Amino acid sequence: MSLLLQQDVGPAYQDLDEKSVLQRIQSLKKRLTEKLLILGHNYQQEAVIQFADQTGDSLKLARYAAATKDKEFIVFCGVHFMAETADILTSEFQKVILPDMRAGCPMAEMVSLEELAWAWESLSRVVPKGVVPITYINSAASLKAFVGDRGGSVCTSSNAHEILQWAFSKGEKVFFFPDEHLGRNTCYSLGIPFEDMLVWQRDKPLGGNSAEDVKRAKIFLWNGYCTVHQMFRPEHVKMWRKRDPDIKIIVHPECMFEVVQAADYYGSTEKIIKTVNETPRGTKWAIGTEINLVTRLQKQNPDKFITSLSPFQCLCATMYRIKPVYLLWALDNLAAGKVVNRIKVEEPTAGPARLALDRMFAISG
Ligand code: SF4
Repeated sequence: MSLLLQQDVGPAYQDLDEKSVLQRIQSLKKRLTEKLLILGHNYQQEAVIQFADQTGDSLKLARYAAATKDKEFIVFCGVHFMAETADILTSEFQKVILPDMRAGCPMAEMVSLEELAWAWESLSRVVPKGVVPITYINSAASLKAFVGDRGGSVCTSSNAHEILQWAFSKGEKVFFFPDEHLGRNTCYSLGIPFEDMLVWQRDKPLGGNSAEDVKRAKIFLWNGYCTVHQMFRPEHVKMWRKRDPDIKIIVHPECMFEVVQAADYYGSTEKIIKTVNETPRGTKWAIGTEINLVTRLQKQNPDKFITSLSPFQCLCATMYRIKPVYLLWALDNLAAGKVVNRIKVEEPTAGPARLALDRMFAISG
């Protein structure tokens, strides 16, 4: 998709030293302040997120974009699906810009519209009605539109519990994609037994399941995953518990079931931030989420012991593509009256995708 579209910014930018890049961003931000909003996802590196007017997880940033009516340019320091969501929720005169088009989400790319349509069609032959489609916000706009057209909703890691409860009140079964782990962790918290959860393999007819199993199951979980959160393993939890029995473990629900079960707490990045920030000084935390957020929490809480749950560096490489130099390039162009890297979702897709997003806002407040 977007991965080949990034223009080479050239030596005029690549050869700049970091200090002058940061100074120039700062002064352009001041110059463009009337028209400009910079949004920064919690996983962005420090050199970038320091310029964000608002930081947060997908849900918080989507809400903020929707509520911002007066800024013409929204520079989204995050990944592609987040910029698409911001474009869907903002008005026609607003332009959403992704500083580097190569910043996609590997999980979102684990399901295409064609694959989904094929799966839905084969499922509909076995279960003709009563299936509610739910997409995690980490998905392309075309998939949100697919869901919107079929009476479903978007969810985020903050509200998956409420959205799945709603879905089960609307239909007998749920088709959940693309994150198998968020789906399983949430269903478990809702008391749904494992035998009612079927993994749906995207390249197999009926997801690799028998028609009898499909008729019996309550939820189908697309076998997508986050390449970062899958790096956290149950043995990392054991290692920290053995090393320090006082340490608390908190993880993101994109982690595998065994890790979430072994942890003390789990939740969205916003929940992780709130939980860690609000605990008393001297507390100790091993955190199972992206390393830039863990490092920021360390800096913000010098009176606590904070470490990554994994001994390996769990970095989201695509989030990390948003480098200060690309932010500078995008802002330089805006100052020169040129919009580069605009993310635009055309109305035939944006309309039903907005419907699915609005259902989410209506359900989760
Ligand atoms: S952390 Fe995982 S889910 Fe988030 S953008 Fe990176 S790969 Fe996608």
